[in-house]
Amino acid sequence: MAETLLQVRDLKKYFKTPGGMLHAVDGITFDLEEGKTLGVVGESGCGKSTLGRVILGLLDATSGSVLFEGKETIGVSKHQRKDLRKNMQIIFQDPFSSLDPRKTVCEAIMEPLLLQKKLSKEECHAEALKLMDTVGLAKRFENSYPHELDGGRRQRIGIARALALKPKFIVCDEPISALDVSIQAQIINLMLDLQEEMELAYMFVTHDLSVVKYISDDIMVMYVGCTVEKCAAEELFQAPLHPYTKGLLSAIPVPNIHRERKRIVMQGELTTPIDPAPGCRFANRCPYAKERCQNEMPCYEEVLPAHFVACHYVREVNGLAGAAHA
Ligand code: SF4
Repeated sequence: MAETLLQVRDLKKYFKTPGGMLHAVDGITFDLEEGKTLGVVGESGCGKSTLGRVILGLLDATSGSVLFEGKETIGVSKHQRKDLRKNMQIIFQDPFSSLDPRKTVCEAIMEPLLLQKKLSKEECHAEALKLMDTVGLAKRFENSYPHELDGGRRQRIGIARALALKPKFIVCDEPISALDVSIQAQIINLMLDLQEEMELAYMFVTHDLSVVKYISDDIMVMYVGCTVEKCAAEELFQAPLHPYTKGLLSAIPVPNIHRERKRIVMQGELTTPIDPAPGCRFANRCPYAKERCQNEMPCYEEVLPAHFVACHYVREVNGLAGAAHA
């Protein structure tokens, strides 16, 4: 059985703004096993990218805990953080802006190896060439600059850099959304092959629901800084339980003219993440909202085995056993 690699508990990240405290990440809890993929979805601004950065230590957490292989990573020293970075990496959305335009392909891939100061320059160069081969970049691009390559090849550099230190966990922050559709499948397949080969665990952050279904073992749905639902990918698409997830999924086009899906239009305004009201963050847009929803934040609970939802009325809405018939 796969070991638990990452344990995130009640993780929060708030930012001070002139208008008040912005609750970007507000009490996220999940586990991720070795070699598995957690898809994290939600509308833009829901906190999913910030969550990835806090887990990696690129942003300081406001509170909460992130255990990697059972060891706390929040509040560790710079030296310990450097050690952790070997095992926890990131692939960015826009490979162009994440690469130094003055560095060649090979130099960009060598950079993390040189920073670790464990190999000579020649060894780093040989390792970079191996990594180019691993991610499908031909040796002839060794001395090319990022602007001379297409988006897919640039993203392959980003992946090679992330793999350089042989990590166990990679946050993939919308890694294909800046790419042409024709190249997206190539990069996804490359990532899946690498995962199998190297037993990588991914946290795959995206707003693209069709991709997340294909790549994920579990999916977590975020809304205004909070998790509203998390379960196995297949189950989420077959039988979503949270009203927000149902609305999100209903917007995906069905590739079958004989099957119709009723689109649920989510009306009402998005709750502000700045000093949000005490109730359910989805209450303004939820067709099932009652008075309690405005005043009391719902608990995030296991409603079905390994299926977690944050909604006061999840049982009533879905006709599940245990519904209160008030
Ligand atoms: Fe809707 Fe209330 Fe459930 Fe929130 S707690 S999702 S407002 S029914």
